[in-house]
This record gives sequence, C-alpha cells and structure tokens, in this order.
Amino acid sequence: MTALLERLRQIVGEAHVLTEGDLVAYEQDWRRRVRGKSLAVVRPASTAEVAAVVRECAAAGTSVIPQGGNTGLSVGSTPDDSGTQVVLSLTRLNAVRHIDRDNLSFTVEAGCILQSLQELAEKEGLLFPLSLAAEGSCTIGGNLGTNAGGTQVVRYGNTRELCLGLEVVTPQGEVWDGLKGLRKDNTGYDLRDLFIGSEGTLGIITAATMKLFPQPAAQLTAFAAVPSMEAAVRLLGMAHKHLGAGLTGFEVMGQFALSLVIKHMPQLRVPFAGLDGAPPYYVLVENSDSESEQHARERFEALLELAFEDGCVLDAVVAESLSQAHELWHIRESIPLAQAEEGLNIKHDISIAASRIPAFVEHTDAVLQREIPGVRLVNFGHLGDGNLHYNVQAPVGGDAKAFLNEREHLVNHLVYEAVAEFGGSFSAEHGVGALKVDKLEKYQSPVALGMMRAIKQALDPQGLMNPGCILARA
Ligand code: FAD
Repeated sequence: MTALLERLRQIVGEAHVLTEGDLVAYEQDWRRRVRGKSLAVVRPASTAEVAAVVRECAAAGTSVIPQGGNTGLSVGSTPDDSGTQVVLSLTRLNAVRHIDRDNLSFTVEAGCILQSLQELAEKEGLLFPLSLAAEGSCTIGGNLGTNAGGTQVVRYGNTRELCLGLEVVTPQGEVWDGLKGLRKDNTGYDLRDLFIGSEGTLGIITAATMKLFPQPAAQLTAFAAVPSMEAAVRLLGMAHKHLGAGLTGFEVMGQFALSLVIKHMPQLRVPFAGLDGAPPYYVLVENSDSESEQHARERFEALLELAFEDGCVLDAVVAESLSQAHELWHIRESIPLAQAEEGLNIKHDISIAASRIPAFVEHTDAVLQREIPGVRLVNFGHLGDGNLHYNVQAPVGGDAKAFLNEREHLVNHLVYEAVAEFGGSFSAEHGVGALKVDKLEKYQSPVALGMMRAIKQALDPQGLMNPGCILARA
C-alpha cells in the first residue's frame, strides 16, 4: 500500500493524496448516516491524471470510489470502513473546455459545480436548466453519475436528456472520448447512456458535453392551494394543455410539510398560512414564456381561471417579481431542512405514474396510519414527474431516534410494497447507492438484474469500481 501511495503522489502531487487529518467531508455521506475510512483521498486535476491513478489502482487491486460534491442521498460516494479504498475526488477537474453557441452546448469537466455552470450559461445569455437544491455543492460529474432530476424535469428532462456526449476513464485506465456534441448518432450501442446513472460503478466521467437552451423571455411562478391530491393531478393535466412547453415546474407540498416550514422557518412568508380549514395540498407552478411577461401572465391567468371554475384550485397567488418567485421556491426547498429540524425521519424518493398518485397516497397513508398510529407523513415533491418524497416522521412526542431504529424496516417495507403494487419505482432520482442494493435485488426483475451484472462483469471484471454500489459485491 505504501508503494501505491508513493506512485499516486508522483501522479497528482504530494498535496493531493490525503491520508491524514480531517477527511470527514470525503468519508461521511451527506446525511451523516455512514462514516467510512479510506486508504487515501486522491485529487487529480486532469483526465490524464485520473487515468494514471485508475491504472495504478487496478494494478494494485485497489478499489476506487469516484466522488464529486458528496451530496448524494444514497450513500454511493463514500468508502467502506476497510481503510483499503481510494476516494477519487474530481473537484479539481473543473475547467470549462468549450462553449459552442451555435450548437447550443458546452463541454465541461466533471468537477464543475452545477451552480457555476448555470451562472456561466446565464452570462452567455443562455440557460442550463438542471436545477436542484444541492446545486451550490454538487458537481456535473455527480449529476451525470446519478442521472439527477430536480425541479425542471417536467420540461427539460433528467440529466441524461441534457447530455450530448461524455469522456470516460474506464476501469482499466483507458480514456473513451465520446465528446461529440451530436444530437443524432445511431452508431451502435449507446455507451453514453450506459455510463449516465451508473453511479461510478462502470467508469469515471471526466468531462461532458451538455445542452444549452435559449433563456425564456419571462418566468412566472404561482402558488396554489388545492383541495386534494386528485385535484393537484387534474391541475397538472390542465397546465400541460394550456401552457405546453411553457410548463417548466410543477411541485406539490402536503399540508403537514408546509406546517413544518411555518414552524421552523417563521421568517418565511407562506401564502395562505392562515387559510381556514388548511387545504391538504399546495402546488407551485412555473410558467416560462418565450414571448413576453405580459404573454406569460395572460396564459397563466387563463389557466388559473379555468382551474378555479373546475374546482381544482381553492386559492392562488402569482408572484409579482422575480424575488417573490424566489421566495415561493424557497418555501418548497426549505421542506427538507424544516423536516430535519423536526427530527430524524425516514425518507423515500419514489415515482408513480401521475395518474395513479392520488390512489397510491390514499392507500399508503391509510396503511401506515393503521400499522403505526400517530405516524406523521411529510409528502412533497416533483409531481410534474410523478416523483414524491414520501417521508415518514415519528408520532408527536415520540423519540425520533428510537422510531428510526425500531420502525425503519417496517415503514420501508410498507411503502415499497405499495410502490411496487402501483407499478412505481423505489428510487426516482437519488439512485441506488449502497443504501438500496437490497431493494434493487427485491424489486428489479431477474432478467434486468442478470443484464446489469453482465454489463458490470464485462466492463469491470476486477470489480474495483465502487464495489457494493448498485449491485451487491460478487
Ligand atoms: P456525489 O454525491 O459525490 O456522488 C454521487 C454518485 O455519483 C456516487 O455513486 C459517485 O460515485 C458517483 N460519481 C460522482 N462523480 C462521478 C464521476 N465524475 N463519474 C462517475 N461517477 C461519479 N438529487 C436529485 O436528483 N434531485 C434533487 O432535487 C436533489 N435535491 C437534493 C437536495 C439536497 C439538499 C441534497 C443534499 C441532495 C439532493 N439531491 C438531489 C441529491 C444529489 O445532490 C444528487 O444526487 C447529485 O447529482 C450528486 O452530485 P455530487 O457531485 O454531490 O455527487
């Protein structure tokens, strides 16, 4: 091991092979549920250095854990506790290689922070639409590794749909240059799509060519109270029909989720906070318009008028300014933090066909409340994509830690069985990581699992790329 560390120091420089001191930021997952111990954290600054590091690790039979911003929520980017794995941090690989305005694309290195890419696009008068609450710390390599979703998927798709090409270091330390930037390229198996969402188990993404879009002329946000989840889904259908491609965001928040924001972030101004009878759900709708603010407002008002007539909206406000729109989004984005303030909770990131969500929620709420009386449900998420963060909090006054220890298994079982019954997915956007390997075994078909294992074996026969992530160790 000493010889390997010496060779890694020769490749990336002494200062970038970290073995001592406080490595908690690299060795612990974002939710602080798992703390590992690495052999070293290695921080290369170029594709050639990544390839050389991987070759040395392969020769030594040492596992490599690719890591970006370490904001993943499925424990996929931290080492196990053996002290034998190398964490390969890509944050120094952060150059913007090329902006192609005519092709509406840019080529960026894996360690670029998502927010910096959004800001760069904006400076160019363009839009990079990938957006999620961790954007100040997550990297584009991690976004691709997890096929991240976020708040704009209803219009622009997941990270996969935003990607035109990749550069990848294979488990053998070879470099595949697939940075073509083409919108059409039917030349055999789609290797790009194979690496996207593979969570660092098939190779290391070192750079990507990503799509850019024209900036909308205007963007409006509405916050509406709705009488039921069924009404929220009906409103989604109406928004698709009347806003078309202008519909860029559609989020849902349950009443209890919002009440936690009101309780723990009293400085935020939450619309309808005092509304009589507290409607069970609220939605945030975003309309981006390519013509003008007036056009956007007219279309939005027409939609809301129809929705009031239909009864699927009880009350609504439309932000008057960009800062008011940000305030409304901030309410939605504050739910995870408010929930954390309330105490430990059991999180789920599930997807169901939008049309089946009302029945799923009714069914699953009832099952949980029957099995665990008093349990509190924090339900919110990207309803436009059929993606719910269906989280479960201990009953009032209960010991949250004991609740987690004693009930997590049962709660997960009940929720995931219901998800399977309704034809959904147990992981909509956070991936499998090491956290949900057993769920993949249970809920993925044997045929699909067989193909996944065959791909892993073909590309990484030594099993050194992020072992134990997605698939159980061989
Ligand atoms: P990491 O956490 O470092 O890694 C994640 C996975 O990708 C690991 O398996 C790792 O091995 C692999 N990986 C990292 N870099 C590379 C690379 N260069 N090549 C190959 N594999 C690599 N996710 C969503 O999808 N939607 C959301 O709305 C969302 N909201 C979030 C809000 C908060 C507050 C937080 C903390 C997280 C949220 N996430 C969300 C989860 C997380 O931000 C995303 O999964 C993000 O894409 C991870 O990026 P990262 O750079 O932090 O990757």
